[in-house]
Amino acid sequence: TTYEVSVRPLPLEGKPGVLLTFTDITHLEQAGQMRRDFVANVSHELRTPLTALLGFIETLRGPAREDAAARDRFLGIMEDEAGRMERLVGDLLSLSRVEAEERVRPTEPVDLAGLVRSAIRGLAPLAEDAGVTLETDAPEAVLEVPGDADQLRQVVVNLIENGVKYSGRGAEVRVHLAEPAYQPRLRGQGVELAVTDTGPGINPIHIPRLTERFYRVDSHRAREMGGTGLGLAIVKHIINRHRGRLKIESAPGKGTTFRVLLPREV
Ligand code: ADP
Repeated sequence: TTYEVSVRPLPLEGKPGVLLTFTDITHLEQAGQMRRDFVANVSHELRTPLTALLGFIETLRGPAREDAAARDRFLGIMEDEAGRMERLVGDLLSLSRVEAEERVRPTEPVDLAGLVRSAIRGLAPLAEDAGVTLETDAPEAVLEVPGDADQLRQVVVNLIENGVKYSGRGAEVRVHLAEPAYQPRLRGQGVELAVTDTGPGINPIHIPRLTERFYRVDSHRAREMGGTGLGLAIVKHIINRHRGRLKIESAPGKGTTFRVLLPREV
């Protein structure tokens, strides 16, 4: 615990006295520390691809100048690195936008069933390339919740993409969407969206930290998959903004389920 102490003269019944005030500023200290950590992380994440880009530019100017094959290969790597920076900046912008709006409850009617079906259509090529089967039991009928359509789409897409990315060839990703039911955790009617994969699963020690910015279970592998480490932080913020709940169920070797409850009424 950190205290800020202030001393003020305070005469009491004509006699000299002082007033000592102790203010608990632990939460401010922690917020400051988190902000410093975040800036350090962002700087590091941006510097890594930048250093690679600068290195390859130098090589292209020098040794690789006359070698067309090498030049092509280096340009390909540079494109990947620039793409990584672009995704990172995009995710940082999404995160700051959701954070800024976190107190404003979105209320547009959003058809979750249509949104799930269209997200699956959009991600079908990615799943096919990865050798992963994508399935859903989303109803054909409209299933509305109050929300922000772009943000809810981001939740669905992020969770499906993670399932596809981390599960590997031969795995299955299932998107379950259930009709409104009384949800004790919401103290009201809610819709359940669950994205389940048959991938490697996650060790329980990591689960509480997965939605922290830049937290990765296996940072080398996650980076290779092109992840920014911000996806689940964004998902968590969007769900909070919708006054929903996120539950992560996973066990090594048993696959993973991300379960989202969204309230039916504003
Ligand atoms: P990233 O951009 O690295 O994918 P996320 O915030 O989306 O970042 O996810 C954080 C970490 O959680 C990932 O790096 C990965 O280690 C783990 N993870 C997320 N989804 C899954 C999943 N479906 N199966 C296994 N691990 C997962």
